[in-house]
Amino acid sequence: MPLKPTRTVDELRELRELTGDENGAQRVAWTDTWKRAQEWMSSKLDGTGAVESFDAAGNQWWTLPGASEQALILGGHLDSVPNGGWLDGCLNVIAGAEVLRRIAEEGESPLTVRLVSWADEEGARFGRSLFGSSAAAGSMADQDELRVLKDADGVSLPEAIGVFGVDLDSALDARSELENAAAYLELHIEQGPVLESMDLPLGAVLGTFGVERHRITWRGQAAHAGSTPMNQRRDALAGAAKLALELRVIAAEVGDGAVLTSGGVVCKPGIVTSVVETAEQLLDMRHLDAEKLAAMNRAAHEASERFADEESLQVEWERIWQIEPILFELADLAEDAVREVAGTSHRLPSGPLHDAAEVSRAGVPTAMLFVQSLRGLSHTKLEDTKPEHLELAVQALDRLATMTLARLAG
Ligand SMILES: [Zn+2]
Repeated sequence: MPLKPTRTVDELRELRELTGDENGAQRVAWTDTWKRAQEWMSSKLDGTGAVESFDAAGNQWWTLPGASEQALILGGHLDSVPNGGWLDGCLNVIAGAEVLRRIAEEGESPLTVRLVSWADEEGARFGRSLFGSSAAAGSMADQDELRVLKDADGVSLPEAIGVFGVDLDSALDARSELENAAAYLELHIEQGPVLESMDLPLGAVLGTFGVERHRITWRGQAAHAGSTPMNQRRDALAGAAKLALELRVIAAEVGDGAVLTSGGVVCKPGIVTSVVETAEQLLDMRHLDAEKLAAMNRAAHEASERFADEESLQVEWERIWQIEPILFELADLAEDAVREVAGTSHRLPSGPLHDAAEVSRAGVPTAMLFVQSLRGLSHTKLEDTKPEHLELAVQALDRLATMTLARLAG
């Protein structure tokens, strides 16, 4: 049977019925509902000849042996956030299943073709995203922190994953799954407004943003709001406020999609009758270009020193988290596939991290496709994409798989 993209839309609706409720998708990782989704997915691959297995990190694999052990991998995640959308993650797996079925029916493929549903991409229950893909990529290094994580009901992470036969200490054994990986392909909803605003169904993803995340502490002097003249204040909030506005200037100067966000400021003493003594400001900076990200970081640091001077404050920076930009090696193939299927192609970066970033970081050539999200909404039951765009996305993933196989076999 040739590729049947309408079947993907039907199956997405079926999964929504099976694992959602009036508030949206409920396929949180390491739960019974997630398990139900896994079993349902298996039933969709019965009869293809693909062999199912679970690896040491709880990732679910289907392997269709080909002439070579070198493998083309299609991936996504069946888990969702609570009250999530009907497409985030599962579109990737269900569309991948359609492509795998098409390949299986054409006889032996030159390469082995594998489909993976990564475990706990969302991190909704324990706050740790990309669990399964980071284990397979070998980048998971926070076992000691994961060991003490508990969910809202007090269940520990080791206990919850243990139910699924996963042991934290051996999760990194999942690395062996990528040993024969020749390429990795992932389709995902955009989860943002860019493609819709350009009236385009599909886009080729260039890579994922590098991120610099910092906590900035401004220190001034608490003083009475009534008795302290304006020109004698050391107001910590003034430093934070100046920096928050300066982010727009820095973004404009660096350009090329630079985004900077001051996501929170906590003031102490935080009462209406006192000048702010300390302001703790959270800053998130993202760019696809490592040098530009570094330039943003420098510019923000310099601006903070300047504002500290102007306002007679002390300022301290503490890095909370960082990740380098990850560029997808096969972005040109993704662009060709999108152009073939949709007529025009648009290249765009991904703001959110995805499993594809972990796989790419592990050195596997990677391509990623985005399909338009209506109103840019995701992680809500309002998440949606037009059925005709979902069908185009399945076609584009199929073309991308064919092109990638041809390049790898040639
Ligand atoms: Zn996702």
